[in-house]
Amino acid sequence: MRGVRGAAVAIALSVALTGCQVAASDPVVPSAPVVAESPASASPSGSPATPGPSASATSATAAPTPTMSPTQDALPLAGRTIVIDPGHNGVWTKRELRKVPSGNGRSKECNSSGTATNAGYAEHAYNWAQANALAKELRARGATVRLTRPNDHGEGPCVNLRSALANELKADALVSIHADGSFASGARGFHVIVSTTMVGGSAVEKESTALAKRLRRALETETAMPRSTYIGGGTALSFRNDLGTLNLSKRTAVMLEMGNMRHATDAALLGSAKFRTQAARAIADGLEAYLG
Ligand code: ZN
Repeated sequence: MRGVRGAAVAIALSVALTGCQVAASDPVVPSAPVVAESPASASPSGSPATPGPSASATSATAAPTPTMSPTQDALPLAGRTIVIDPGHNGVWTKRELRKVPSGNGRSKECNSSGTATNAGYAEHAYNWAQANALAKELRARGATVRLTRPNDHGEGPCVNLRSALANELKADALVSIHADGSFASGARGFHVIVSTTMVGGSAVEKESTALAKRLRRALETETAMPRSTYIGGGTALSFRNDLGTLNLSKRTAVMLEMGNMRHATDAALLGSAKFRTQAARAIADGLEAYLG
């Protein structure tokens, strides 16, 4: 019993230290409710139950019936491991200001709060919803998928650890999902960020650029979000050396800025479950094209 009580005390302390107890002066970005994914679609009416591979072989045949249904191995991303980083965290407090190494000899705050739409839809909530839509799509194509944070109501890893999981798993790719917050007049559209100072070296930077181009192609042809009008001079590609998430990756890694949350049209798209599903398919197609 003592062990159980000790565990209970430890849990209580842990909650007190890491829960939502923040000083009133702490700026906190509240967790905006994640816009519900499209409701679980009921089977189309009249859709008959799919018969499985027939186990009722005629009694005359003793040999087992070979499985004719597609196996997991036949799926396009079978054997692939993809790590998705839903940018930022469900909460932000002053603790996120602590400096951590961000690669390229720099240091940076543990994390930033992210942006939001003018209506208050928080970037972290969008990132979380988009990441989960993508995870669902990739898993349906056979990939092993891991996310860098477990939920959208607590703290996730600092930027120096966002690539650690991909490095550890020797992932085929790390895709960090964000949305931008530019107040420049008329600024809209998506862009893809690649690091020019990755710990993986120039070969990994080259691979990351190749993935970025595949993702750009898929996003611009399969979704209503256009290329960025304000980053990349029409290329929708942005090469940077200040982002820990990318700098510290030993694996192919890109950061997607999926749109500008401060632009009304982009905000409406990002807030739409339909767009997120389309975007998830596009990103999965881009990954498939890159890995193919
Ligand atoms: Zn962001």
